Amino acid sequence: MIVDRQGRRFRNLRVSLTAACNYACTYCVPDGKRLVAAQDELSAESMARGVAYLIEAAGIERLRITGGEPLVSPKLEVFLREVSQLGLADVSLTSNGQLLSRKLPLLLDSGIRRLNVSLDTLDATAFRAIARGGDLGAVLAGLEEARAAGVKIKLNMVPLRGQNLDQVLPLLDYCLERGFELRFIELMRMGHLARDGNGFLQQFVGMAELLAMIGQRHAFVQADAPVDATALRYEIPGQGFFGVIANESVPFCRTCSRLRLSSTGWLHGCLSSSNRHYVGDLLDKPRHQALPALQRLLVRALGDKQEVAFSGGVTVMKIIGG
Ligand code: SAM
Repeated sequence: MIVDRQGRRFRNLRVSLTAACNYACTYCVPDGKRLVAAQDELSAESMARGVAYLIEAAGIERLRITGGEPLVSPKLEVFLREVSQLGLADVSLTSNGQLLSRKLPLLLDSGIRRLNVSLDTLDATAFRAIARGGDLGAVLAGLEEARAAGVKIKLNMVPLRGQNLDQVLPLLDYCLERGFELRFIELMRMGHLARDGNGFLQQFVGMAELLAMIGQRHAFVQADAPVDATALRYEIPGQGFFGVIANESVPFCRTCSRLRLSSTGWLHGCLSSSNRHYVGDLLDKPRHQALPALQRLLVRALGDKQEVAFSGGVTVMKIIGG
């Protein structure tokens, strides 16, 4: 097991199945181009082998499939089939929900019972302005179907000043009514926002402001969360839970257990570091050759983690997998 001086180790793996996305969210994609898959993306089989090797080499216990948008990827079916046989404690997926209705049967057949769906607003006009693609109605319909099928759902919202702050309470009520857990993600200084400090600061909304807004409508208390959770969780007694991923206000670097594998075969030990480690070539090698090399790279990837606080990074979120 690879452990650092702070006692951190990799437990949670996020695999970005593809860099392609059917949205081009303003805070994620700089120029509004909906991005296509990178030319040198790994096959579903190689990526699933990567997961298997990382379970062994790093002690990965939980997998989240992300992107880009994982539901647009033709690799999804094979990848899900392969990873469902690896005995992981938890396999979940993060999606923008646009294709959820269509892909729900596949997800259910593959044993997916937990989904995070990103939804920044319930207002159709604001939705188009932020996502620069997609259709709000399709997302809402997919969410209802997933809920009816018994899928546990978390909704991710990035609060953005001047764009969707009026949606904090409506989205919270929407989630409470349906048993979804809403998670507010503080805007991160990633990609173009790492270079555009003013743009970041103009849009950023911190946890204290969010909690004050929520407190005007609901009484809430802090709830338990796992030690390495990235979200602070709150309970609105009798109604449900919500969370805040407060990477700026309450950094969680000291307990971070995340490792990321990109669709082009790079390992990222930290969102906030520009270091990355190429493992694409190792994933087609037999286990006895791949594992020792992988372990050496994992030591370096763990060393990339920030000591205390997230400071941003130039990598675009849709490449690294959010
Ligand atoms: N397409 C999927 C989706 O929309 O959830 C998965 C990939 S997306 C990059 C994963 C998450 O990253 C989304 O919840 C998105 O809102 C979030 N995200 C992207 N850029 C961000 C930023 N600069 N700050 C905070 N969250 C960001």
